[in-house]
Amino acid sequence: MRGAAIASMCLWLAGGGAALAAPCRGNPAAIGTSRTITVSPAALPRIGTIQYSRTLPLNDREIVITFDDGPIPPNTNRILNILASECVKATYFLVGRRASEHPHLVRRIYNDGHTIGTHSQNHLLVFDRLEPKAVEGEVRDGIASVQAAAGHPRAVAPYFRIPGLLRTRPVERYLGSQALAVWSADAVADDWYFGVTPQRIVERALARIEAKGRGVLLLHDIHPATAAALPPLLKELKARGYRIVHVVPDGERPKSVPRLPAPAVADSSGNAPAVTGAIGKNKKKRRSDVTDRGVTSSIRR
Ligand SMILES: [Zn+2]
Repeated sequence: MRGAAIASMCLWLAGGGAALAAPCRGNPAAIGTSRTITVSPAALPRIGTIQYSRTLPLNDREIVITFDDGPIPPNTNRILNILASECVKATYFLVGRRASEHPHLVRRIYNDGHTIGTHSQNHLLVFDRLEPKAVEGEVRDGIASVQAAAGHPRAVAPYFRIPGLLRTRPVERYLGSQALAVWSADAVADDWYFGVTPQRIVERALARIEAKGRGVLLLHDIHPATAAALPPLLKELKARGYRIVHVVPDGERPKSVPRLPAPAVADSSGNAPAVTGAIGKNKKKRRSDVTDRGVTSSIRR
């Protein structure tokens, strides 16, 4: 329902049949969102050519933008502001524990029209070594936390991204048994490395997208460098003729969820607050998410 409504709002068919973005109010130079596609776990249980043989049914020069590891202010807010100004709809993979800490951001993400999937409860970067019961708890608790933060269970799509992309067949089998689509990606931008510059993020994203000509781009909305990279990246993607596609799950979803006020305290430094415990374990060289081991050791299939 909601997906159909979005599709009818966003789809703007030009004479030649190519989907162009609808006009973006207040920003005629925006890249916008050209179309919305519905993706069900049954039809597409594993997504992303970095690790799998299949990806989303995209046309040449179509991109789906995804953000992992949030929400954390102020960078999640900054990226939401950029996406709003560019009329871009993205897909978020939220960490349950962080969603519980910042439910107002979860609700803003949803009410801004983005799709919300999950990324485990604590973002343990040992998913390939966890006992089955621990995996099940991380997945189940992560979904429950994000659903509670969102204020409506159907505001959360049945989409899951494994922390660090540390896939194993048992983990994938479990996710499949829960009717969850496993999202890998088609391109990453190395935006989780300490010290990476916005320019470098833009260069790597563009090079890897160009190599495939389309696909799912994995970014992280918790880093200041990613927030700084996003405007020039979107500008360059538009200049090169790329179009943004929004992905929604099938079935009924709420039109919106009740908003929550933002807490009075804000971090104006632009840096993500320090993380503790399990989430922050692996932050010496990599701040989060994709590990070389997770990507390179995975067998494409
Ligand atoms: Zn992650």
